[in-house]
Amino acid sequence: MTTSKKGLLYVISGPSGVGKGTICKEIIKRNPSISISISATTRKMREEDIEGVTYYFKTIAEFEEMIENNSLLEWTNYNGNYYGTPVAPVKDALNAGRDFILEIEVEGALNVKKIFPDAVLIFVDAPSFADLEKRLKGRGSETDETLKARINRAKEELLLKDKYDYVVVNNTLETAVSEIENIIKGE
Ligand code: 5GP
Repeated sequence: MTTSKKGLLYVISGPSGVGKGTICKEIIKRNPSISISISATTRKMREEDIEGVTYYFKTIAEFEEMIENNSLLEWTNYNGNYYGTPVAPVKDALNAGRDFILEIEVEGALNVKKIFPDAVLIFVDAPSFADLEKRLKGRGSETDETLKARINRAKEELLLKDKYDYVVVNNTLETAVSEIENIIKGE
C-alpha cells in the first residue's frame, strides 16, 4: 500500500514594507522544493512588477469573474484594490506533496486558517514602527495618500499578530530567512 504525504501550507504575512517579499524570494531560492503562490490583483503595476511573476494583473471585471467562478481560495480588498489567491495551484501543490507559501495580508491569512487548519501562519514584524515607516517611505512606490493608507493598515495588522503561530522579526534578511527555514524544518 502506498501512502501519499500531503504538502504543508505556510502563510506569511506582515505589514506593508516589512520586507516579506524579499524574504519569501530568498526562501524559495534556497529551497527549490517549495513553491509560492502568485496572487491576482487589480492594483496598478509597479516598475519592478512582472505579469505572471509578481502578480496576475486583472481588471475589476476579470477579478470579480474569478470570485464568481470560485477560482480563488481567499480574496480581500486592500486599500481599494482586490487581491486574491488562485485556488488550483494551492490544491495541486499540496496534493502532490509539495509545500506551498502564500504571502498575503492578515484577513486573508486568517481565512486560509479556517479552510486549512493545518496551515502554518508566520507573521513578519519590523524591529520598530519607526523602522517600518522609514522602509515604506524609502521604497518610493507610494503617493502620500497610499502611503498613509498602508501605514494605517499596518497598525491594524500588527494588532492581529498574536493570532499567528510564529512571529519573526526582520532585523536582517539573513536572520529572518534562517528563522523561517528553521520553522519549516520543525514542522
Ligand atoms: P502589495 O500591493 O504591496 O504588493 O501588496 C499589498 C498587500 O496585499 C500585502 O500585504 C500582500 O501580502 C497582500 N496580498 C498579496 N496578495 C494577496 C492575496 O492573494 N490575498 C490577500 N489576502 N492578500 C494579498
